[in-house]
Amino acid sequence: MSTDPDCLFCQIAAGQTLAQTVWEDDAVLAFRDINPQAPVHVLVIPRDHYRDFDALAAADSSVLQALMRGVTAVAEQEGVADGYRLVFNTGAQAGQSVFHVHGHVLGGRAMTWPPG
Ligand code: 5GP
Ligand code: ZN
Repeated sequence: MSTDPDCLFCQIAAGQTLAQTVWEDDAVLAFRDINPQAPVHVLVIPRDHYRDFDALAAADSSVLQALMRGVTAVAEQEGVADGYRLVFNTGAQAGQSVFHVHGHVLGGRAMTWPPG
């Protein structure tokens, strides 16, 4: 299991930094975004540290699968399974600011396209 002591989301996964957990299992943790962009805005992360989606996809398919199951569980639990947006900002150009892979689960309002 890889962790980075300087990584904010590793610290959340370790319980060293507080977050509002909404769902978890052995491999995955989901917690509310501190700056929500929709009525439902939950971040879904692997407990292990991968810097972005590409690093996770290249590394371990079982963790990737667990992450995706976590997304589905969060959407159901939060009552947005009929319509939600899943976003992985990948790289600074795309707006990634925390370099521990996380899926944004956004829902509870109508979403527009294209995104900004
Ligand atoms: P990114 O910009 O990397 O795609 O998304 C990072 C997300 O993490 C942002 O939506 C931001 O609001 C959220 N975030 C940053 N710091 C914290 C924190 O300390 N706690 C929580 N719960 N969310 C955070
Ligand atoms: Zn990390």
